[in-house]
Amino acid sequence: MTSFDRRNFCKSSIAFASFGVASNFFVPSLSQARTLDLGSAKLESFSDGVMRLPIEMLFENVPTDERDQLLSEIGSAVDVISRPVNVNLLSTGSRRILFDAGSGKNFLSSLGQLPAVLEEASVDLAGITDVVFTHAHPDHIWGIIDEFDDLLMPNASYHISEAEWAFWDSEDALSSMPAGRENFAVGAKSRFDLLRDRINLFSAGAEIIPSVEAIDTSGHTPGHMAFAIHDKGQSVLIAGDSLTHPVISFKHPEWQNSSDMDTENAVKTRIRLLDRLTQDNFVLAATHLPAPGYGRVEKDGAAWRFIET
Ligand SMILES: [Zn+2]
Repeated sequence: MTSFDRRNFCKSSIAFASFGVASNFFVPSLSQARTLDLGSAKLESFSDGVMRLPIEMLFENVPTDERDQLLSEIGSAVDVISRPVNVNLLSTGSRRILFDAGSGKNFLSSLGQLPAVLEEASVDLAGITDVVFTHAHPDHIWGIIDEFDDLLMPNASYHISEAEWAFWDSEDALSSMPAGRENFAVGAKSRFDLLRDRINLFSAGAEIIPSVEAIDTSGHTPGHMAFAIHDKGQSVLIAGDSLTHPVISFKHPEWQNSSDMDTENAVKTRIRLLDRLTQDNFVLAATHLPAPGYGRVEKDGAAWRFIET
């Protein structure tokens, strides 16, 4: 059976299985996109799903009483944090630019719905012209392939920072992973192997696509990048994982986040980014802020506040 045959056989099997489920149980509808009209361009947010992470994986080395009180005030559990995974699609001229690609089916069972969500929204994966990565963690890059390890966006150019590529492509990546996260390195490397001939490496400050500028936001990973999109109407900042919690990242950007690989640098990056977001009045688009992940940032005393839009 060819790869094409296997894929279609599998698709029909999935469709058949889904039909069986749908006829007996309630099936929630796929997440709806939200759209930002930027003037001559359009930005849409699509959900890859939601992940639930133990608090120790995120905010462990922080004042726990204050942390728990903040979480309780917003009605959040104090032991497990739910984080959506929002993926953005920029349509400008003839370009269809995806920022990150979700996690696919091999990371967490609650993630990996992006291809179905895009299909439901009539977004043709073959028509995606560019995939731009903020960084190479599983929930951002693993989703470039289907269940047969074929690229889901076969016609796209792929873009990642030089520093991010250098780290995850090195022997050091695996040995520097904390226990339990070794698969982060193995998974990134296997995706890189598929992209090696078509990857476009860039540095901070580069205009990687007309009107899309890369901004150094290292700390979460060695080569993490945010992207400023400048259009006629307004500017948007694709923040990736530099701001991940709707209260803690803004009220206490100085608190260390255990998911950041270089926690001290990540703190500096967060504070620098929050300053820029308020000064330049950016719309913020972030992967793990409440879906669709869009909002504005305001100064709040010595700290900041996230206002969802
Ligand atoms: Zn992430």
